[in-house]
Amino acid sequence: MELLEQKILTEGKVLSESVLKVDSFLNHQIDPRLMKQIGEAFAHRFSDAGVTKVLTLESSGIAPAQMTGLSLGVPAIFARKRKSLTLNDGLYSAEVHSFTKNVTNEISVSKEYLSSEDTILILDDFLANGQAAKGLINLVQQSGATLAGVGIIIEKGFQDGGKQLREQGVRVESLATIASLNHHTVTFSKEGAS
Ligand code: 5GP
Repeated sequence: MELLEQKILTEGKVLSESVLKVDSFLNHQIDPRLMKQIGEAFAHRFSDAGVTKVLTLESSGIAPAQMTGLSLGVPAIFARKRKSLTLNDGLYSAEVHSFTKNVTNEISVSKEYLSSEDTILILDDFLANGQAAKGLINLVQQSGATLAGVGIIIEKGFQDGGKQLREQGVRVESLATIASLNHHTVTFSKEGAS
């Protein structure tokens, strides 16, 4: 996706050989025009999949999931990382180890919002080692819903998550794929250049 790749090149900050900071348009400040395009791109790629709900993880997944839900005409759900007084019973839960924060969170979704009748499109901002996506897939499996696939805004192709998910037969669609962050430079791989 051209606008996304431009934004990554002009505003992304390479923090190390494995971490990219994109706080100016995705992880802190949000670019609504870009989110709209991202939503349309995912809706287009999964238009044949019969998606009934979009599922993401709070908080950075919410904006793109909402725009994708809007384009597909379906609701967006975000798994929560903390239980609350209003969300503590009747949950599907899974453990997710965070790549950037190095902590393990229990993520949860109310059973009210996922059912065996649903076809779920999972979305996330980054794909690194695949822990977040696998946790979300676990929630979908517990509910008996069908998994349409996983949509990722920025896949780091030099980490293993994408390969592992595809080997498991999961359809993974990434809007930008980074081949390397070496030498403080973002290099895209061809798959991400669409
Ligand atoms: P994974 O679970 O695939 O190892 O990592 C994906 C999760 O970690 C994403 O939900 C994202 O929040 C975070 N993440 C992984 N790599 C990066 C990165 O390079 N930059 C940012 N901003 N977040 C990342």
